[in-house]
Amino acid sequence: MSSPLLSLEDVSKHYPVAAGRGRRGTRGHVRAVDGVSLDILPSETFALVGESGSGKSTLGRAALRLIDVTSGAVRFDGRDVTGLRGAALRRVRPSMQAVFQDPLGSLNPRLTAGAIVAEPLAVLGGLRGSELDDRVDELFRSVGLDPSRRASRPRALSGGQRQRVSIARAIALRPRLVLADEAVSALDVSVQAQIVNLFADLRESMGLAYLFIGHGLPVVRHIAQRVGVMYLGRMVETGAVDEVFDDPRHPYTRALIAASPVPDPRVARERIVLGGEPPSPVHLPSGCRFRTRCPIARDVCAREAPPIVRLSPTRSVECHLAA
Ligand code: ADP
Ligand code: MG
Repeated sequence: MSSPLLSLEDVSKHYPVAAGRGRRGTRGHVRAVDGVSLDILPSETFALVGESGSGKSTLGRAALRLIDVTSGAVRFDGRDVTGLRGAALRRVRPSMQAVFQDPLGSLNPRLTAGAIVAEPLAVLGGLRGSELDDRVDELFRSVGLDPSRRASRPRALSGGQRQRVSIARAIALRPRLVLADEAVSALDVSVQAQIVNLFADLRESMGLAYLFIGHGLPVVRHIAQRVGVMYLGRMVETGAVDEVFDDPRHPYTRALIAASPVPDPRVARERIVLGGEPPSPVHLPSGCRFRTRCPIARDVCAREAPPIVRLSPTRSVECHLAA
């Protein structure tokens, strides 16, 4: 196995919350991410799935050092980048780029698509004149946009075209890792497939690795090699996509799969319905944090935090009952 491109070691991100009105003293913490370890290999796509609020975006932002971690270590290409700041952090930024869900929110509406893509090339890449011009054209073509689109502003483009512009900007400085946080979730299904295929093509041609966050399990299965399932800040199951989706071992993973639309209705499936809402990430249940919604919970689940059970070198499940 080659050495990881990105390595997260026991990473936590806790947000302080103010005490309620009329109450003094102790503030609680939202444990958005709570002790997660994960490696991504060069040219690998690792997907994160889990309900809204499970900590996927926080983990992605921590991995790219867009936010500081509360504890734990972030290593990129063998280097500890956990505490980098200022100029040192700016130097690693080009290698780790992000594409988010809403390109309208993340693209400057006043700039043309061409200027948006040219910006990192000029500011950080130092390109000028015809060299810059040619590279912008090349990037437009590599994301499937006609260079004549350079003159359009974000509002004049379709959702799919806008996401292509975001991707062109993200890959402009030849990153090694791209965070795609719900990057296809807001698009029509047919456009989703095109953008997912574009991600896959770029992985092939540029050797990109992805941290791909998405809620659609069929899309995740299509694009990723490995998947991590998050619940309330913990990664409760991880493994190769086929292993995890064909033979889920964590009761939460089973519930997620059962709740996902079935592409082939002839495939019978064990229905497990998740009861209730997830507990507050400020007041977590004792023991296993999934136990309050778990259909198979026993006494031990309330008493003790579950062990991380390693089923194979690449597969682990955090559950008392998974061994
Ligand atoms: P996901 O991407 O899986 O929906 P997030 O990482 O966005 O989850 O959020 C995880 C938890 O952390 C949620 O409870 C969310 O409300 C909380 N959270 C996220 N960002 C902040 C923040 N800046 N301040 C306080 N709480 C936050
Ligand atoms: Mg999110």
